Amino acid sequence: MTSTFTTDPSGHRYQRAYAQALGEQALHDLVTALYQPLFTALSRRLGIPHRIETYAQQQAGEHYRRTWLRLLPRVDAARWWLAPSTGTPHLRVPCPHPDCGWAEKHAERTRVHLTAPESAVVSAVCLHHGPYEATITPTVGAYLDLATLYRNLVKELALTSPQGTLHVMVKGGDWVFGSHLVDEALQAVGLARAQLPARLFCPQVVTDTGAKLSKSLIREGRAPLPEGTAPWMLDTRQWPGTVTEYADRLLAMTETLLSDPRHFFRSYSAAEIGRLIIAPSPRSVPSR
Ligand SMILES: [Zn+2]
Repeated sequence: MTSTFTTDPSGHRYQRAYAQALGEQALHDLVTALYQPLFTALSRRLGIPHRIETYAQQQAGEHYRRTWLRLLPRVDAARWWLAPSTGTPHLRVPCPHPDCGWAEKHAERTRVHLTAPESAVVSAVCLHHGPYEATITPTVGAYLDLATLYRNLVKELALTSPQGTLHVMVKGGDWVFGSHLVDEALQAVGLARAQLPARLFCPQVVTDTGAKLSKSLIREGRAPLPEGTAPWMLDTRQWPGTVTEYADRLLAMTETLLSDPRHFFRSYSAAEIGRLIIAPSPRSVPSR
């Protein structure tokens, strides 16, 4: 999840993550405003407790950092799975200068050195402030921004500790292909197949052109609002009724989709999702 980009005079691309561009408190407030009421309502309906954790919070945690530090000596074995076109899985640490926070998008000048079993130094170059270094240990250090596949490898590794808990990764259907690469990367760094986490892939909501309905691109004005998309699909606060009613309708739709594998392993246009939620008669969903 990134928000802003720029290029320095030598042509290096830079980016800032939401956590740096907005500030972590603003990011937390945004997630709370957009999702917390709905998740609370779903949690009450299902009797299942929940907790929301952003990536900014997760990467700051001791367990995630220790998992990454332990992976570092072995990550070379997985490099072609994590970055099939270049062989260099990208890691970004934002410039620590106050009010800066830019990091090299392609990490061309970013280097990582393990200096002790649980301590690494990342060096990089800021477009405004020149070279900088950041030390990362399990308990302290800079924001750890990893490329998507690399990030997912660490997230899934962090869930493999033998605690008698079944962890399930829930992903959108667009992740089916990426997950094969993560599976190979997990095995390349030493996991057996039985240790790989369980994953559930959910139907994708797509536009009329077949592209993924991207809430962030539409909000930023970089993609048009597709036909049949209702404002409440992008912002739960726009739902015309109560949030409890919204939760009930979502759960009813989920039951329809889960009632037959044929309903679940496919994509739905935003317009069809709208129909399924507003008038739950499955029009384009084949019946038995
Ligand atoms: Zn800087």
